[in-house]
Amino acid sequence: MSIRESSLDVHSAVSRTHVGAGDYYLAPLRRGQTLRILDTHGNQAADTLFFNAADVTERYSAMDTLREQGNVYLSAGSVLRSSLNNPMLEITADTCGRHDTLGGACATESNTVRYDLEKRCMHACRDSWMLAIAEHPEYGLSKRDITHNINFFMNVPVTPEGGLSFEDGISAPGKYVEMTALMDVLVLMSNCPQLNNPCNGYNPTPVEMIIWD
Ligand SMILES: [Zn+2]
Repeated sequence: MSIRESSLDVHSAVSRTHVGAGDYYLAPLRRGQTLRILDTHGNQAADTLFFNAADVTERYSAMDTLREQGNVYLSAGSVLRSSLNNPMLEITADTCGRHDTLGGACATESNTVRYDLEKRCMHACRDSWMLAIAEHPEYGLSKRDITHNINFFMNVPVTPEGGLSFEDGISAPGKYVEMTALMDVLVLMSNCPQLNNPCNGYNPTPVEMIIWD
């Protein structure tokens, strides 16, 4: 766990975007800009993908990121790497302490396998991502670009035996994670609507996306 507070003042931010429970966020973040994801109510998973804004075939890679840092959790100091092993963003502040990039995002298919066949029609992160790319064709993203992701604020501890479990969150109201872009990126975030596991405290809530130049 690595707690590092930010020195940035929200009054000097260039944009602030409220993202309701179950909604998505898709927008560019320029090199040198800093993005804060604010967990307004606590225990809310923010399922996030990053793409090189100049060539979306280059995208966030969990395996390259974890191999290079030699640790399975993301926190302050983590450099988020691309599928070409280029540094995309660096986490510069974090008051939650740990973020998951192993658990993947929820989908209607995984909901039926994990929970019940009748969960098939429940809203899932993958639906939000698909809606985002359908509503924003200007970015050139397609279904094949939707791959493994980061679950900011989500708690998926690795057991001593190497197992994974979805646990109650370690985030709380007002906790945040901040990252500075090291290249021009697109940020695609699903504010997770999941109701079947504790990643959102069984009650999805809003997050805020705050950007500084
Ligand atoms: Zn989800």
